[in-house]
Amino acid sequence: MNAPIAVPGAERPSQSAALDYVRSGQIPFFRLPSVDPAVPGSLEGAGAVLLGVPWDGGSTYQAGAKLAPWHVRRVSALVQGFHPVHRIDVFRGLRPVDGGNVAFPPFDPTAMRECVEDAAARIHAVGAVPILLGGDHSIALPALRAAAARHGALAVVHVDAHYDTSDATVWGDAHHHGTPLRHAVLEGLVARGQLHQVAVRATTSDEQENRWSRGHGARVRDMEEVAELGVERVAGEILREIAGRPAYVTFDVDAIDPAFAPGTGTPVSGGLTSREAIRFLRCLEGLHLVGMDVVEVSPNLDHADLTSHLAAQLLYEGLALAALDAR
Ligand code: MN
Ligand code: MN
Repeated sequence: MNAPIAVPGAERPSQSAALDYVRSGQIPFFRLPSVDPAVPGSLEGAGAVLLGVPWDGGSTYQAGAKLAPWHVRRVSALVQGFHPVHRIDVFRGLRPVDGGNVAFPPFDPTAMRECVEDAAARIHAVGAVPILLGGDHSIALPALRAAAARHGALAVVHVDAHYDTSDATVWGDAHHHGTPLRHAVLEGLVARGQLHQVAVRATTSDEQENRWSRGHGARVRDMEEVAELGVERVAGEILREIAGRPAYVTFDVDAIDPAFAPGTGTPVSGGLTSREAIRFLRCLEGLHLVGMDVVEVSPNLDHADLTSHLAAQLLYEGLALAALDAR
Protein backbone atom coordinates (compact mmCIF):
# COMPACT_ATOMS: atom_id res chain seq x y z
CA MET A 1 0.00 0.00 0.00
CA ASN A 2 1.37 3.36 -1.00
CA ALA A 3 1.51 6.72 0.68
CA PRO A 4 -1.00 9.23 -0.69
CA ILE A 5 0.17 11.33 -3.61
CA ALA A 6 0.43 15.07 -2.99
CA VAL A 7 -2.25 17.21 -4.64
CA PRO A 8 -1.40 20.87 -5.28
CA GLY A 9 -3.35 23.12 -2.95
CA ALA A 10 -4.34 20.42 -0.48
CA GLU A 11 -2.32 20.12 2.72
CA ARG A 12 -3.21 16.43 2.97
CA PRO A 13 -5.11 14.71 0.16
CA SER A 14 -8.07 12.67 1.33
CA GLN A 15 -7.63 10.05 -1.41
CA SER A 16 -4.62 9.05 -3.47
CA ALA A 17 -4.82 9.65 -7.22
CA ALA A 18 -6.78 7.22 -9.36
CA LEU A 19 -3.57 6.38 -11.22
CA ASP A 20 -2.02 5.25 -7.95
CA TYR A 21 -4.40 2.32 -7.82
CA VAL A 22 -3.49 1.33 -11.35
CA ARG A 23 0.15 1.43 -10.31
CA SER A 24 -0.18 -0.31 -6.95
CA GLY A 25 -2.33 -3.41 -7.44
CA GLN A 26 -3.96 -3.93 -4.05
CA ILE A 27 -4.91 -0.53 -2.69
CA PRO A 28 -6.45 0.64 0.60
CA PHE A 29 -10.24 1.01 0.90
CA PHE A 30 -11.37 3.95 -1.27
CA ARG A 31 -7.70 4.90 -1.98
CA LEU A 32 -7.57 6.31 1.55
CA PRO A 33 -4.39 6.61 3.58
CA SER A 34 -3.26 3.26 4.96
CA VAL A 35 -2.19 3.13 8.62
CA ASP A 36 -1.23 0.55 11.22
CA PRO A 37 -3.57 1.26 14.15
CA ALA A 38 -1.08 -0.39 16.54
CA VAL A 39 1.42 2.40 15.92
CA PRO A 40 0.88 5.17 18.49
CA GLY A 41 -0.48 8.36 16.94
CA SER A 42 -1.35 6.67 13.62
CA LEU A 43 -5.09 7.32 14.02
CA GLU A 44 -4.71 10.98 14.90
CA GLY A 45 -7.19 13.15 13.00
CA ALA A 46 -9.12 10.18 11.59
CA GLY A 47 -12.87 10.30 12.10
CA ALA A 48 -13.36 6.69 11.03
CA VAL A 49 -11.17 3.64 10.52
CA LEU A 50 -11.98 0.88 8.04
CA LEU A 51 -10.94 -2.65 9.00
CA GLY A 52 -11.14 -5.90 7.07
CA VAL A 53 -11.91 -9.07 9.02
CA PRO A 54 -10.94 -12.08 6.88
CA TRP A 55 -12.94 -14.73 8.75
CA ASP A 56 -15.54 -17.23 7.57
CA GLY A 57 -15.12 -19.93 10.22
CA GLY A 58 -18.66 -19.13 11.36
CA SER A 59 -20.31 -19.86 8.01
CA THR A 60 -22.84 -22.67 8.19
CA TYR A 61 -23.15 -23.31 4.44
CA GLN A 62 -21.00 -21.85 1.70
CA ALA A 63 -17.73 -20.21 2.80
CA GLY A 64 -15.71 -17.49 1.12
CA ALA A 65 -16.51 -14.37 3.16
CA LYS A 66 -12.91 -14.30 4.40
CA LEU A 67 -11.89 -13.15 0.91
CA ALA A 68 -14.11 -10.07 0.92
CA PRO A 69 -11.57 -7.54 2.29
CA TRP A 70 -9.32 -8.03 -0.75
CA HIS A 71 -12.08 -7.86 -3.35
CA VAL A 72 -13.98 -4.97 -1.81
CA ARG A 73 -10.77 -2.93 -1.46
CA ARG A 74 -10.06 -3.51 -5.15
CA VAL A 75 -13.46 -2.33 -6.40
CA SER A 76 -13.72 0.46 -3.80
CA ALA A 77 -11.12 2.38 -5.83
CA LEU A 78 -14.01 3.52 -8.03
CA VAL A 79 -15.80 5.34 -5.20
CA GLN A 80 -15.05 9.06 -4.95
CA GLY A 81 -15.50 11.45 -2.07
CA PHE A 82 -18.38 13.73 -3.00
CA HIS A 83 -21.78 12.32 -2.02
CA PRO A 84 -24.39 12.86 -4.74
CA VAL A 85 -27.33 13.12 -2.33
CA HIS A 86 -25.95 14.40 0.98
CA ARG A 87 -23.87 16.96 -0.94
CA ILE A 88 -20.80 16.63 1.28
CA ASP A 89 -17.25 15.47 0.64
CA VAL A 90 -17.27 12.39 2.86
CA PHE A 91 -13.51 11.82 2.77
CA ARG A 92 -12.40 15.41 3.30
CA GLY A 93 -14.89 15.93 6.10
CA LEU A 94 -14.33 12.71 8.02
CA ARG A 95 -10.70 11.88 7.18
CA PRO A 96 -11.26 8.10 7.26
CA VAL A 97 -8.26 5.78 6.99
CA ASP A 98 -7.74 2.11 6.17
CA GLY A 99 -6.48 0.30 9.26
CA GLY A 100 -5.74 -2.90 7.31
CA ASN A 101 -7.10 -6.33 8.14
CA VAL A 102 -7.38 -7.67 11.66
CA ALA A 103 -4.83 -10.48 11.81
CA PHE A 104 -5.47 -13.72 13.72
CA PRO A 105 -5.02 -17.47 13.12
CA PRO A 106 -7.70 -18.23 10.49
CA PHE A 107 -8.98 -21.31 12.37
CA ASP A 108 -9.36 -19.91 15.90
CA PRO A 109 -12.74 -18.29 16.62
CA THR A 110 -11.73 -17.19 20.13
CA ALA A 111 -8.63 -15.44 18.81
CA MET A 112 -10.74 -13.82 16.09
CA ARG A 113 -13.17 -12.38 18.65
CA GLU A 114 -10.37 -11.14 20.92
CA CYS A 115 -8.41 -9.54 18.08
CA VAL A 116 -11.47 -7.85 16.54
CA GLU A 117 -12.58 -6.50 19.91
CA ASP A 118 -9.06 -5.17 20.61
CA ALA A 119 -8.80 -3.56 17.17
CA ALA A 120 -12.21 -1.88 17.46
CA ALA A 121 -11.50 -0.75 21.04
CA ARG A 122 -8.30 0.94 19.87
CA ILE A 123 -10.35 2.94 17.37
CA HIS A 124 -13.04 3.87 19.90
CA ALA A 125 -10.30 4.99 22.29
CA VAL A 126 -9.33 7.84 19.96
CA GLY A 127 -12.95 8.83 19.36
CA ALA A 128 -13.10 7.45 15.81
CA VAL A 129 -15.78 5.20 14.32
CA PRO A 130 -14.75 1.62 13.40
CA ILE A 131 -16.27 0.49 10.09
CA LEU A 132 -15.68 -3.23 9.57
CA LEU A 133 -15.94 -5.35 6.48
CA GLY A 134 -16.29 -9.08 7.25
CA GLY A 135 -16.01 -11.85 7.14
CA ASP A 136 -19.12 -13.70 8.16
CA HIS A 137 -21.62 -12.24 10.62
CA SER A 138 -19.93 -13.74 13.69
CA ILE A 139 -17.38 -10.90 13.47
CA ALA A 140 -20.10 -8.46 14.58
CA LEU A 141 -20.23 -9.69 18.18
CA PRO A 142 -16.72 -8.52 19.20
CA ALA A 143 -17.29 -5.23 17.35
CA LEU A 144 -20.54 -4.71 19.30
CA ARG A 145 -18.74 -5.57 22.55
CA ALA A 146 -16.12 -2.89 21.88
CA ALA A 147 -18.75 -0.31 20.92
CA ALA A 148 -20.85 -1.00 24.02
CA ALA A 149 -17.77 -0.88 26.26
CA ARG A 150 -17.16 2.64 24.99
CA HIS A 151 -20.71 3.98 24.60
CA GLY A 152 -22.90 1.84 26.88
CA ALA A 153 -25.88 -0.18 25.69
CA LEU A 154 -26.45 0.56 22.02
CA ALA A 155 -29.24 1.01 19.54
CA VAL A 156 -28.56 -1.64 16.88
CA VAL A 157 -29.88 -1.47 13.33
CA HIS A 158 -29.65 -5.04 12.03
CA VAL A 159 -30.36 -5.44 8.31
CA ASP A 160 -30.49 -9.13 7.40
CA ALA A 161 -32.57 -11.87 5.79
CA HIS A 162 -32.11 -13.75 9.08
CA TYR A 163 -32.73 -13.03 12.76
CA ASP A 164 -29.27 -14.25 13.79
CA THR A 165 -30.61 -14.97 17.26
CA SER A 166 -30.12 -18.73 16.99
CA ASP A 167 -28.47 -20.81 19.72
CA ALA A 168 -26.35 -23.97 19.77
CA THR A 169 -29.29 -26.27 18.95
CA VAL A 170 -28.73 -26.68 15.22
CA TRP A 171 -24.94 -26.66 14.90
CA GLY A 172 -23.83 -27.68 18.39
CA ASP A 173 -21.93 -24.42 18.94
CA ALA A 174 -23.22 -21.15 20.33
CA HIS A 175 -20.90 -19.09 18.13
CA HIS A 176 -21.47 -18.95 14.39
CA HIS A 177 -22.85 -16.49 11.87
CA GLY A 178 -26.43 -17.21 12.92
CA THR A 179 -26.00 -16.23 16.58
CA PRO A 180 -24.31 -12.80 17.05
CA LEU A 181 -27.48 -10.85 17.88
CA ARG A 182 -28.56 -13.37 20.50
CA HIS A 183 -25.24 -12.92 22.32
CA ALA A 184 -25.40 -9.14 21.92
CA VAL A 185 -28.85 -9.02 23.52
CA LEU A 186 -28.02 -11.48 26.33
CA GLU A 187 -24.76 -9.65 27.11
CA GLY A 188 -26.64 -6.37 27.48
CA LEU A 189 -24.84 -4.72 24.56
CA VAL A 190 -28.23 -3.66 23.12
CA ALA A 191 -30.42 -1.18 25.00
CA ARG A 192 -33.87 -2.58 25.83
CA GLY A 193 -36.19 -2.14 22.86
CA GLN A 194 -33.34 -0.93 20.64
CA LEU A 195 -32.72 -3.91 18.38
CA HIS A 196 -34.16 -2.84 15.03
CA GLN A 197 -34.28 -5.81 12.64
CA VAL A 198 -34.95 -4.99 9.01
CA ALA A 199 -35.72 -7.14 5.91
CA VAL A 200 -35.92 -10.48 7.76
CA ARG A 201 -37.59 -13.10 5.58
CA ALA A 202 -35.84 -16.49 5.73
CA THR A 203 -37.79 -19.63 6.56
CA THR A 204 -37.05 -21.04 10.01
CA SER A 205 -37.59 -24.45 11.59
CA ASP A 206 -40.33 -23.01 13.79
CA GLU A 207 -41.47 -19.71 15.28
CA GLN A 208 -38.85 -19.74 18.02
CA GLU A 209 -36.35 -17.20 16.62
CA ASN A 210 -39.10 -14.76 15.73
CA ARG A 211 -40.59 -15.13 19.23
CA TRP A 212 -37.18 -14.85 20.85
CA SER A 213 -36.37 -11.59 19.07
CA ARG A 214 -39.73 -9.98 19.79
CA GLY A 215 -39.73 -11.37 23.34
CA HIS A 216 -36.42 -9.62 23.97
CA GLY A 217 -37.70 -6.26 22.85
CA ALA A 218 -36.61 -6.31 19.22
CA ARG A 219 -38.59 -4.22 16.76
CA VAL A 220 -38.80 -6.46 13.70
CA ARG A 221 -39.69 -5.00 10.32
CA ASP A 222 -39.74 -8.08 8.16
CA MET A 223 -39.43 -7.91 4.39
CA GLU A 224 -43.23 -7.90 4.00
CA GLU A 225 -43.51 -4.81 6.19
CA VAL A 226 -40.57 -3.07 4.53
CA ALA A 227 -42.12 -3.71 1.11
CA GLU A 228 -45.43 -2.32 2.30
CA LEU A 229 -44.12 0.79 4.08
CA GLY A 230 -41.08 1.58 1.93
CA VAL A 231 -37.53 2.05 3.18
CA GLU A 232 -37.89 5.82 3.67
CA ARG A 233 -40.69 5.40 6.19
CA VAL A 234 -38.97 2.46 7.91
CA ALA A 235 -35.74 4.46 8.30
CA GLY A 236 -37.70 7.47 9.60
CA GLU A 237 -39.47 5.35 12.22
CA ILE A 238 -36.20 3.76 13.33
CA LEU A 239 -34.52 7.17 13.62
CA ARG A 240 -37.34 8.39 15.84
CA GLU A 241 -37.24 5.27 18.02
CA ILE A 242 -33.47 5.50 18.43
CA ALA A 243 -33.83 9.15 19.43
CA GLY A 244 -30.16 10.09 19.36
CA ARG A 245 -28.79 7.08 21.21
CA PRO A 246 -25.34 5.77 20.16
CA ALA A 247 -26.14 3.51 17.22
CA TYR A 248 -24.41 0.57 15.57
CA VAL A 249 -25.40 -0.63 12.08
CA THR A 250 -24.77 -4.30 11.29
CA PHE A 251 -25.52 -4.96 7.64
CA ASP A 252 -25.66 -8.52 6.33
CA VAL A 253 -25.48 -8.33 2.55
CA ASP A 254 -27.95 -11.23 2.29
CA ALA A 255 -30.66 -8.73 3.26
CA ILE A 256 -30.39 -7.70 -0.37
CA ASP A 257 -32.00 -9.87 -3.02
CA PRO A 258 -29.59 -12.41 -4.53
CA ALA A 259 -30.47 -10.93 -7.93
CA PHE A 260 -28.50 -7.85 -6.79
CA ALA A 261 -26.11 -9.50 -4.34
CA PRO A 262 -25.41 -13.05 -5.48
CA GLY A 263 -22.05 -13.27 -3.73
CA THR A 264 -23.17 -14.51 -0.33
CA GLY A 265 -23.21 -17.88 1.43
CA THR A 266 -26.85 -18.12 2.56
CA PRO A 267 -28.91 -16.27 -0.05
CA VAL A 268 -32.67 -15.82 0.42
CA SER A 269 -34.86 -14.72 -2.48
CA GLY A 270 -37.24 -11.80 -2.25
CA GLY A 271 -35.04 -9.22 -0.54
CA LEU A 272 -34.20 -5.54 -0.81
CA THR A 273 -33.05 -4.12 -4.10
CA SER A 274 -29.60 -2.55 -4.02
CA ARG A 275 -31.30 0.83 -4.53
CA GLU A 276 -33.54 0.26 -1.50
CA ALA A 277 -30.55 -0.75 0.63
CA ILE A 278 -28.62 2.38 -0.31
CA ARG A 279 -31.71 4.57 0.11
CA PHE A 280 -32.36 3.07 3.54
CA LEU A 281 -28.89 4.04 4.77
CA ARG A 282 -29.21 7.54 3.25
CA CYS A 283 -32.50 8.02 5.09
CA LEU A 284 -30.75 7.28 8.40
CA GLU A 285 -29.15 10.74 8.18
CA GLY A 286 -29.06 12.06 11.74
CA LEU A 287 -28.04 8.74 13.27
CA HIS A 288 -25.33 9.03 15.93
CA LEU A 289 -23.24 6.27 14.34
CA VAL A 290 -20.60 4.76 16.63
CA GLY A 291 -19.82 1.61 14.65
CA MET A 292 -20.78 -0.38 11.59
CA ASP A 293 -20.10 -3.61 9.80
CA VAL A 294 -20.93 -5.03 6.39
CA VAL A 295 -20.72 -8.82 6.39
CA GLU A 296 -21.31 -12.03 4.44
CA VAL A 297 -19.82 -10.91 1.13
CA SER A 298 -18.40 -14.03 -0.57
CA PRO A 299 -16.51 -12.98 -3.70
CA ASN A 300 -16.08 -16.60 -4.80
CA LEU A 301 -19.86 -16.85 -5.24
CA ASP A 302 -20.20 -13.45 -6.89
CA HIS A 303 -20.77 -12.45 -10.53
CA ALA A 304 -19.09 -9.45 -12.10
CA ASP A 305 -18.12 -8.19 -8.62
CA LEU A 306 -21.76 -7.07 -8.11
CA THR A 307 -21.79 -7.86 -4.41
CA SER A 308 -18.34 -6.38 -3.80
CA HIS A 309 -19.33 -3.13 -5.52
CA LEU A 310 -22.50 -2.99 -3.47
CA ALA A 311 -20.57 -3.67 -0.25
CA ALA A 312 -18.17 -0.83 -1.08
CA GLN A 313 -21.16 1.46 -1.60
CA LEU A 314 -22.73 0.40 1.71
CA LEU A 315 -19.45 1.09 3.52
CA TYR A 316 -19.31 4.50 1.83
CA GLU A 317 -22.89 5.25 2.95
CA GLY A 318 -21.85 4.34 6.49
CA LEU A 319 -18.89 6.73 6.25
CA ALA A 320 -21.32 9.39 4.99
CA LEU A 321 -23.52 8.89 8.06
CA ALA A 322 -20.46 9.27 10.28
CA ALA A 323 -19.38 12.38 8.35
CA LEU A 324 -22.84 13.95 8.72
CA ASP A 325 -22.83 13.12 12.43
CA ALA A 326 -19.36 14.65 12.91
CA ARG A 327 -20.26 18.02 11.40
MN1 MN B 1 -28.19 -13.34 6.80
MN1 MN C 1 -26.49 -12.32 9.39
